[in-house]
Amino acid sequence: MLNKGLLRRLVEELSFIENKPSKILKVDSVAGGSINHCFKIITSNKSYFIKLNSASDFPQMFEKEAKGLRILRGTKLIKTPLVYTCGNFADEAYLIMEFINSSIKPSNFWENFGRQLADLHTISNNHFGLDHDNYIGSLKQPNTKNEDWISFFIEERINPQLKMALNQGVFSSKISQDFEKLFAKLENYFPKEKPSLLHGDLWSGNFMVGDKGEAIIMDPAVYFGHREVDLAMTQLFGGFHPDFYAAYHEALPMEHDWEERLRLYNLYPLLVHVNLFGGSYINKVKNILQRFI
Ligand code: ADP
Repeated sequence: MLNKGLLRRLVEELSFIENKPSKILKVDSVAGGSINHCFKIITSNKSYFIKLNSASDFPQMFEKEAKGLRILRGTKLIKTPLVYTCGNFADEAYLIMEFINSSIKPSNFWENFGRQLADLHTISNNHFGLDHDNYIGSLKQPNTKNEDWISFFIEERINPQLKMALNQGVFSSKISQDFEKLFAKLENYFPKEKPSLLHGDLWSGNFMVGDKGEAIIMDPAVYFGHREVDLAMTQLFGGFHPDFYAAYHEALPMEHDWEERLRLYNLYPLLVHVNLFGGSYINKVKNILQRFI
């Protein structure tokens, strides 16, 4: 993976970043990512977090990740790792970021994190979507702007993933009829909400605790959407601490019945998981559909 040519290129990049000839002292692989190959690279100066993947299989994936991180970082409301650069060497795409040493959560960690997410969600726009398409995991995420949340959710979120799953033969065609029934009812379920700037993939693997005990969010799939999208994602694999939701709610009160609705929003990441990993996610999608139709 880290062949000599790529290592030489990384040394060039690091020398440019450090503004002096750089030497790589150590390369450690970092576990935990489900999509990319991740490494910690230590130079005589600093540590870096490097992601690698195929440039041809996932065109511009790291450029989009870097853009998303810069959008979030630009708000100055919540921390993200600093992105240094990204590029390609032969078919290898790379992303070079600040390495975060993870710390222990202080007692007010969740409260602060909840408030910061609420602050991020106050950043609004006059449409749902974004000025560019990006990725969620390794799958393309279209973001064509739409002033109507329900059409955005159907056309830009559910249908592309559903089409992919049907093409893979994961579901029978009956599922399309069930989704149509659901689409007809969405008006009754979704509240009227302004577009909020979202992380877009906020599960527990996508934040770390920084050295000041602060939340640092990473690996985003940024767009403007209903803020409940982010809250839903926090609950997809177990849920964050209750203090997180209490602080969020205090700063930016949730609409009535939000907890019940989270399942609906999670149809999107669940379909993404069906397409990436199959297995148990298939029934989760079916169960949510049955519950709401
Ligand atoms: P993937 O894109 O493959 O999903 P992630 O961005 O989720 O990879 O990173 C994989 C793991 O590496 C994360 O769960 C986290 O523990 C760690 N990690 C991510 N970014 C950094 C960073 N900047 N510094 C240190 N560790 C990181």
